[in-house]
Amino acid sequence: MSHLFYLSTAARPMLDRAEGIYIWDTAGRRFIDGSSGAMVSNIGHSNPRVLAAMKAQMDRATFGYRLHFETEPGERLAEKVASLCPAGMEKVFFVSGGSEALESAVKLARQYAVVTGQGARWKVISRFPCYHGSTLGALSLTGYDPLTDPFRPLMVEMPKIPAPRAYLDGLDMDDPATGEHYAAMLEAKILAEGPDTVLAFIQEPVGGASTGALVPPAGYMQAVRRICDRYGILLIHDEVMSGGGRVGAFLGGDLWGVVPDILAISKGFGAGYAPLGAMVAQERIVDAVQGAGGFLHGHTYAGNPLACSAGLAVLEEIERQDMMANCRHVGTLLKARLEALMQRFGFIGDVRGKGLLLAFELVADRQTMAPLPPDLRAFNTLVELAYEEQLIIYSRRTRGGRSGDHFLLCPPMITTEPQVDEIMEKLT
Ligand code: PLP
Repeated sequence: MSHLFYLSTAARPMLDRAEGIYIWDTAGRRFIDGSSGAMVSNIGHSNPRVLAAMKAQMDRATFGYRLHFETEPGERLAEKVASLCPAGMEKVFFVSGGSEALESAVKLARQYAVVTGQGARWKVISRFPCYHGSTLGALSLTGYDPLTDPFRPLMVEMPKIPAPRAYLDGLDMDDPATGEHYAAMLEAKILAEGPDTVLAFIQEPVGGASTGALVPPAGYMQAVRRICDRYGILLIHDEVMSGGGRVGAFLGGDLWGVVPDILAISKGFGAGYAPLGAMVAQERIVDAVQGAGGFLHGHTYAGNPLACSAGLAVLEEIERQDMMANCRHVGTLLKARLEALMQRFGFIGDVRGKGLLLAFELVADRQTMAPLPPDLRAFNTLVELAYEEQLIIYSRRTRGGRSGDHFLLCPPMITTEPQVDEIMEKLT
């Protein structure tokens, strides 16, 4: 009997070792990591340079409580992150994961409002569906009823707007008018809530698991930025899944040249080598908060030097191997191969994503985009079938509002063309 418990009750194989895009279990079976461990292991497993950097740091110090010490890996990693983020996003605050990065972002936004005389602003608008983490604060932002319902009223209810799944409305995703149409929903919500009560709008630039690699329509991101500026609302980007390079740029927001006020990164940032996340913010926000007494968030493991040495080595490897370029190239190839499957299978309703953050959606009928009947349990079945083929994929059924069975195909950023063949062989 195992003494462990987790959110899934399904039996899982016992992990033995992992290398590159492959994972072996203790029974000797080799799996392709088609989901990068839920978009974590971005640069592949057991990268020798990352391991060497971590081992070197282990010989120096593994502990660096930030109340007492800054650490060299922390300083160097912050400098690297700032250099990869758009100009103005200069200030980096380390945390240990995605949920905490998002909670920190909201706390910083709220503190900024308070110290700048805007204490009436407290509401954070997000999209429905969306996922921003599993702590109570992060769940308050989350638009996914099965996850949030059991925890009400413990969490704060925040306003939500529909995610721009324009293809479901029959709108043209490439038409900037579509983007304006969805951004107008945000403006309407702000007006309904009372603009002076709204603190921030939070969104994933490229949707991760909650919407299945949803790419917003043309013009949407820019319109959202304009609307936030119009009402003095902070724009927070959740780049926990889309950040780190796998969309072919360091940040999802970079694809549209849209700069948020605060952003959160994690997952691919530590790339599975260490629990690591960061909140990155505009200098003026941090300066205002620091000047008024300091940011009220801290935790024991913030900026742990071992985690930071891993994060730094990960970012250096991404640059050294030009992995973002590989993501753009191999991602285009993999997406084209998935799109080709649509000719064969009428139940593939959509193939979407950027770089190697890709997904396909299964439907009952592509013309109407009617969802598959729930009793088919398609999403469980496909994941289980893929598992039998020793391919790991990641799925999420989006309930509430509109249903969607989508499957994320997001292998590590080092995936090669022959490995795309291998993945497709297993998938079909
Ligand atoms: N934000 C997004 C978009 C995520 O996908 C996740 C995790 O899947 C989180 C936040 C929470 O990150 P973590 O599980 O590291 O707390």
